[in-house]
Amino acid sequence: MKIEVMKNILSENDKIAEENRKLFNDKKIFVINLMGSPGSGKTSLLELTLAKLKDEIKIAVIEGDLFTAKDAERIENHNVPVVQINTAGGCHLDAAMVKRAIESLDLDSLDLIIVENVGNLVCPAEFDVGENCKVVVLSITEGDDKPLKYPLIFKESAVTILNKIDLLKFTNFNLNSAREDLTTIHPNIKIIETSCTNSNGIDEWCKWIKNSL
Ligand code: MG
Ligand code: ZN
Repeated sequence: MKIEVMKNILSENDKIAEENRKLFNDKKIFVINLMGSPGSGKTSLLELTLAKLKDEIKIAVIEGDLFTAKDAERIENHNVPVVQINTAGGCHLDAAMVKRAIESLDLDSLDLIIVENVGNLVCPAEFDVGENCKVVVLSITEGDDKPLKYPLIFKESAVTILNKIDLLKFTNFNLNSAREDLTTIHPNIKIIETSCTNSNGIDEWCKWIKNSL
């Protein structure tokens, strides 16, 4: 019975996601669904991305958060359009939430929308919001076992950002086995090592975005 309910929710979600995607395609906007655990560094990565690209590419951000606008306030400092979605405790964004959020954006003036999903390695991967691609941020401090423990999110993502790479030497994170596991789960996955502290890898990530537009 529960499985039936979930199926109905997902097919309704997929319908709205397709409408969103069609609108984004018509407006020639590339949309990234940025996912990862709380504290993995999604907002920090976004801030560095905006600092590097906002003069070249017209970017807007949709911020998913359980209750607060803390991340959206950080993004606002970069003077790009930002829409806050509070899920009131909901653990992922869905297509209907994104559909409502884009009503307050001027879609004709945008090249790129980055949607920062709710911090969670599980269900954000199950809900298409109409994005062109999903990207997952995994930080070194979370442990190298996460790809095998949460395979769906890595399978669904075009890119895994291995963030906080500057902390590698302070942890027992095994970079080789993490890379192997990621490639086993998703053979074509692009892996980019970044540090939002010293900005290593941010150029490579921004280049990937520009090549994807
Ligand atoms: Mg955040
Ligand atoms: Zn959820």
